[in-house]
Amino acid sequence: MPDDSLHTVYIGVGSNVGKREENCRKAISSVAACRGCLLDCQSRLYETEPVGLSEQAWFINGVVRIRTSFQPKALLIQLQDIEQAMGRRPGGPRFGPRVLDLDILFFDDQIVQTTQLQIPHPRLHKRRFVLKPLCDISPELVHPALGQTMQSLLSNLENGGKKVILFQ
Ligand code: ADP
Ligand code: MG
Repeated sequence: MPDDSLHTVYIGVGSNVGKREENCRKAISSVAACRGCLLDCQSRLYETEPVGLSEQAWFINGVVRIRTSFQPKALLIQLQDIEQAMGRRPGGPRFGPRVLDLDILFFDDQIVQTTQLQIPHPRLHKRRFVLKPLCDISPELVHPALGQTMQSLLSNLENGGKKVILFQ
């Protein structure tokens, strides 16, 4: 497939159960090994304070950029397969502990609003644990709905809030 027909996609990776770093690294390798996906670059990993449900372990989070021939829905299914292969089971509290979370953050500059899939990810612009690693790889990327760069979204987050610490 010619390279210019591939989509550019940003994926958020997170884990707060078991061997968190290993889970994230294995997940990134699994995404890279998918037929139809090429790993383009990856952020550093961060140790992050949980958001939404605070009585749980801190997460390891990162972001990768891939090039893919998949459409959004098909990519979501691939990512859910990887989550399940890593031991994630459906159910459990929303924003609760998970061995692996793979979220589609951006898919080119597409806007998708279905019950199953919302792109850009609806909460990414409020989450330091997403914006910080996004700024490692694409600080000038513009949010297609909000019209602001990742750098500007990050610097406009309120001071304080949830902690995000470089892991390695
Ligand atoms: P969250 O990551 O918000 O904590 P989950 O990982 O538990 O939520 O996913 C719940 C559902 O979110 C999935 O079944 C999927 O259909 C839906 N979803 C909606 N938009 C996205 C997206 N951009 N990336 C991944 N999942 C999404
Ligand atoms: Mg998710």
